[in-house]
Amino acid sequence: MPLFSLACVAIPPQLRGFEGPASAHQAFAVTLADGCIARIEPVPGRPTGTLLSAFVDLHVHLDKNFTVEHTGAIQGDLQAAITRIAQDRVGWTADDLHQRMTRGLVQAYAYGSRALRTHLDWVDVAQPPSVAVFQALREAWADKLTLQWVSLTPLDVFAEPAAGLHIAQAVRAGGGILGAFVYRNEAIDAKLQRVFELAVAQGLALDFHVDEGLDADAEGLRAIAKLTIAHQMQGRVTCGHACSLSVQGPARALDTLALCAQAGIHLVALPTTNLYLQGAWDTTPVPRGITRLKEAVAQGGWPSLATDNVADVFYPYGSYDLIDTFGLGVQAGHLAPAMDWLPCITTHPARAMGLAWDGLLCSGCPADLVLLAASHDCELLSPAGRQRRVWRRGIPLTDKLNESASHDPG
Ligand SMILES: [Zn+2]
Repeated sequence: MPLFSLACVAIPPQLRGFEGPASAHQAFAVTLADGCIARIEPVPGRPTGTLLSAFVDLHVHLDKNFTVEHTGAIQGDLQAAITRIAQDRVGWTADDLHQRMTRGLVQAYAYGSRALRTHLDWVDVAQPPSVAVFQALREAWADKLTLQWVSLTPLDVFAEPAAGLHIAQAVRAGGGILGAFVYRNEAIDAKLQRVFELAVAQGLALDFHVDEGLDADAEGLRAIAKLTIAHQMQGRVTCGHACSLSVQGPARALDTLALCAQAGIHLVALPTTNLYLQGAWDTTPVPRGITRLKEAVAQGGWPSLATDNVADVFYPYGSYDLIDTFGLGVQAGHLAPAMDWLPCITTHPARAMGLAWDGLLCSGCPADLVLLAASHDCELLSPAGRQRRVWRRGIPLTDKLNESASHDPG
């Protein structure tokens, strides 16, 4: 096991909230006191690890996770997964949800996340039992994880005005975020317009599953960016997936991303689920569905990488280890150098969730920290480099907890 010490660590330049030597290889000594970082000082020598702010997971599905143990993995695309989860959902009880959602939170906390935003399936007018279970867990976990929830409703449900209003009012009452699944819907502009009107009327932020497929004419993201600007909701709208952007012509895709930057859209890439569901199932897939992260940054965006599904029919593998998902995103999206993209699991999602702490390390910031064993890019994606020590409020989680997290994905 590596020795985890804060006496000589690297801090990625993008996570430095302080003035100092600019070199990415500079070592620092970090002192903790009273649950915060008290001091950060440059020191000579080679860093023995990389210090990050604790992770922020912007897009997960706590209500679905770990259902693969009884559904089995599907052999098929997104539509096959949607059909299979609908069959399974009727059997979800409050006890079952509580047990599976807790299992997800235990993992996320152990691996070093400090905040999560989960989508909860809300498929027709009636409020699903997952909302009450989530609310109880949000309270129970408040000192460990900041938790947010989004209603995940097929966009077509909003075509019925009374249904949309009922859902939006219930989401507001439950302290949630209004969401929808958007893919090449008929009358898509009118339905999205309705969602924006409800959000404005109820004072809700928005979070969409949008364009999760490889049809180039899927342009929900573009419509959402325009509506965000028109409704002056800049900075309050998150868009997950945007897979179709990867197969559109560069000029059109860049124009859409420029609109997104202007709208302050928080774009989220979900590499695990996209790699599993997108592309052909009968041959080796070539298009992989990862949205255009490099181009989003070039246009002035602040994209994130998030976990999405864990052990369900949408993605039968995985865990809440955000560094694992990050590693997959780095490889699938050719994000290099990898260290430069760590804001995608720290500061960028913190901004999207509107967290009190932006995730920049400085004296006075919370000591909610992850120290990775890796001290340079080439170690970051290796099993040895992913080993970590997590501090919460200045106190290290026990070695036992870390050990069980790294050896038991369940
Ligand atoms: Zn999702």
